[in-house]
Amino acid sequence: MSIAEIDLHSALKKYFGFSGFKGLQEEVIKNVIEGNNTFVIMPTGGGKSLCYQLPALIKEGTAIVVSPLIALMKNQVDAIRGISDNEGVAHVLNSSLNKTEIKRVKEDIVNGITKLLYVAPESLTKEEYVDFLRSVKVSFMAVDEAHCISEWGHDFRPEYRNLKHIIKRIGDNIPIVGLTATATPKVQEDILKSLGMTDAVTFKASFNRPNLYYEVRPKTKNVDADIIRFIKQNEGKSGIVYCLSRKRVEELAQVLQVNGIKAVPYHAGLDAKTRVKHQDMFLMEDVDVVVATIAFGMGIDKPDVRFVIHHDIPKSIESYYQETGRAGRDGGEGHCLAFYAYKDIEKLEKFMSGKPVAEQEIGHALLQEVVAFAETSVSRRKFILHYFGEEFDNDTGEGGDMDDNVRNPKKQVEAKDDVKILLETVEKTNEKYKSKDLVRVIVGKSNALISSHKTDAQAFFGIGQDKDSRHWMALIRQVLVAGLLKKDIETYGVLRLSDEGRSFIKKPSSFMMAEDHVYDDTNNDGIVT
Ligand code: ADP
Repeated sequence: MSIAEIDLHSALKKYFGFSGFKGLQEEVIKNVIEGNNTFVIMPTGGGKSLCYQLPALIKEGTAIVVSPLIALMKNQVDAIRGISDNEGVAHVLNSSLNKTEIKRVKEDIVNGITKLLYVAPESLTKEEYVDFLRSVKVSFMAVDEAHCISEWGHDFRPEYRNLKHIIKRIGDNIPIVGLTATATPKVQEDILKSLGMTDAVTFKASFNRPNLYYEVRPKTKNVDADIIRFIKQNEGKSGIVYCLSRKRVEELAQVLQVNGIKAVPYHAGLDAKTRVKHQDMFLMEDVDVVVATIAFGMGIDKPDVRFVIHHDIPKSIESYYQETGRAGRDGGEGHCLAFYAYKDIEKLEKFMSGKPVAEQEIGHALLQEVVAFAETSVSRRKFILHYFGEEFDNDTGEGGDMDDNVRNPKKQVEAKDDVKILLETVEKTNEKYKSKDLVRVIVGKSNALISSHKTDAQAFFGIGQDKDSRHWMALIRQVLVAGLLKKDIETYGVLRLSDEGRSFIKKPSSFMMAEDHVYDDTNNDGIVT
């Protein structure tokens, strides 16, 4: 062990009381201390904070930490102050400070007392602060939650966009440390470019959570009963049920209570006192279940959450990963059960329809991945890890058999001829129908729109009537996921052929379709009227 390593270990012990580093922490910290640009990608709970806190305490000067959440900053500052005899070791610089407080912060920085200065990105737009920071010794800049810089992240913050220029103004050669728990290759690339640190050394921890079991079930009108049954089978265990709307949260919490389950609701519409009370009841195990919107979870550290149920499918794989990630933190069992109906995707699409087109495009692309995940026949774990840019081998990887698709493989059937029929119908109808009308054309069930275009008088009308609408709807979704068709955004869902789709018509190839589950809760013939 080199002197530097011994020093790092003793510093870790001295400041944080930990006896060893977690995962990649030590390598990251060495890289930061050497003054290199560093990019850290670790799942939540991976121990990212230490990656900049320890170097900040060791290095000369003040480290500036940019963070989007005031509450999180406060927690961190309190924690750091707790390990030092001087309160000035960490400060927050934000708009809530009065003149005297600002003066104190500045003095502590100038006197070399402050090792960590937490700032919100908005504060850095203030000339006065930037001028001040330019005049002092800055050890490095840490950008926490760095995915906020990317429109492809789940939490885009426009104020993050300017950081590169602000950092340049504070100092020419300030090393940058970017940290995030969002690992899609697209977001990573955005972060490196937007922070101007394409030369950064990247440290990426695995996102695999081997103790979590992933399962997706079709969502029917009996979903509440399904949830009750599941919770009763897991009696006495702690769990979270996520719903999209506050109303649903309230209703479901009541239904659970009526059925003898100790449950409380949690959403941003409840007053602060009730929220804290319900959260504490869950933490103290006075109740087993919290029914919540996504407002619940940030900063909740209950290690023995045994199940996370999604009553409604989330709007991105990142959200799904974050939310399911709250199960099994202690390494014990964690069952992640999502209920999925395609109808819910359409609902989420509708929510987006008022937003700017660029935002909608991203939203749709993220949703398409959710559909792909929910309807896939490959291992859920493999799918998630692939989404995060990680290859996973189910035979050798940890947790390789921990999902429904691996334990009960779905039946696969060759659907090459059906895909050809589908794509040709899109072509022959001049790409003017949405999925449901297109399915009507294929199975030969006219409606006002179809007859107004006289499509029902065409020879191909009803060409696929030997199979039911449900089959064709499922096929359309799988073909969309495969990229042979795309949905037009301007017209809210008219199906168009992609280049790949056109090539397929010319030269059809094998297309394996996953068959057994029914994911659209429509009436028997699959058509919603
Ligand atoms: P992240 O920011 O990646 O979500 P945190 O920095 O909040 O993760 O760390 C998660 C938890 O792990 C914290 O409770 C922290 O105290 C703990 N932790 C971090 N590093 C170590 C370590 N080397 N040894 C033991 N516990 C650690």
